[in-house]
Amino acid sequence: MKLHFDDLVPRDSLRADPALWGDWTWQTRSALRTRGDFERHFELAPHEREGFTGLGDVFQVRCTPYYAALASRVEPLDPIRRILMPSGLELLAGAQAMPDPLGERANSPVPRIIHRYPDRALFLVTDTCSVYCRYCTRKHFTGNDHALARGSDYDRALSYLKGRAGLREVILSGGDPLTLGDGPLARVLSDLRSIEHIEIIRVGTRMPVVCPMRVTPELVALLKKHNPVYVMTHFNHPRELTGEAARALTALADAGLPLFNQMVLLNGVNNHPAIVQALSRRLLYLRVKPYYMHQCDPSEGTDHLRTSIEDSLGIQRELWGNLSGLAMPNLSVDIPEGGGKAGLAPDFEVARAGRARTYVGWDGVRADYVSPGEETIRKPIDVESYLGEWRALTGAKP
Ligand code: SF4
Repeated sequence: MKLHFDDLVPRDSLRADPALWGDWTWQTRSALRTRGDFERHFELAPHEREGFTGLGDVFQVRCTPYYAALASRVEPLDPIRRILMPSGLELLAGAQAMPDPLGERANSPVPRIIHRYPDRALFLVTDTCSVYCRYCTRKHFTGNDHALARGSDYDRALSYLKGRAGLREVILSGGDPLTLGDGPLARVLSDLRSIEHIEIIRVGTRMPVVCPMRVTPELVALLKKHNPVYVMTHFNHPRELTGEAARALTALADAGLPLFNQMVLLNGVNNHPAIVQALSRRLLYLRVKPYYMHQCDPSEGTDHLRTSIEDSLGIQRELWGNLSGLAMPNLSVDIPEGGGKAGLAPDFEVARAGRARTYVGWDGVRADYVSPGEETIRKPIDVESYLGEWRALTGAKP
């Protein structure tokens, strides 16, 4: 499929008042939500019409005018359009259609908290997004218009986080935390910063992708005030890295906020080494570390968007050696039902004999690596004494 830029949805048709285009609240208020909204700007294919009529309340539809303008008006196979447009294919049973593929409900000790690992937890501060991605893994929670947690849920979530001294990181998620206004977000951040054992705050957001105008100077100052705040973006395709997105990322990076990107490998969107390479290189140039390349979770209605593990490994293998380690995202699959992440890497080992393992590298070099023998095993490290000294010197917590 060849992209003709003339085929993109023209911005002029989407904007009521040109002065409003750069206002993030106008973008979210003016989101396309109904079949009628989409029909005004897209030539819908039969399976897309079916998506609007059949989905009911399975997973709602929403798209900012900005993001709609990145999609083809006429081509249903367009990658951005596959992310934002509902399809009748979502109604098919699928090979493994799970309402909650990550087993999050079973790992939610109080509403709005998902706690699976000892040192980190997710805080679902809102269920709202400004674009509902058709591959979303959290359809069991996202898009029910419950926005910021109600007072009692919020207080329970916060006191849960306060009561777990082993927690070092809280990941603000949802929904998209940056759909909250600066006021509610400031409250969440300062409440978290008042908890002594929480060292790192992560903000998982797709707003720099679907509504980069959300990254205002006020937002940047707010995030910076609560450093260390790590911003986890979610770009899937190089076309999403527009001039506006680049400006938003630059503002965040200039403020000293570490930026990491998590992409999802999606059939017909980015499942080609050249696409991942273009995305990763551009992200790195914009000071965003390509972090994860996720296998798409088997969430309900996503079979047409998922790749096979074999295809994903093939893509990763082709990237090996062609992309620098800095630009290389880690391919991983979330083990369904809450099993956590499993790293996937191409296997370069071709033989094994005794202590020798034979590898063939990405460009065909074949050589052995021989491990040292038992006789060379060193004296065990006195970890406690090393760490004790280090803590005394740096004041770091155990
Ligand atoms: S932004 Fe994230 S939470 Fe929201 S619909 Fe997309 S994938 Fe799901």
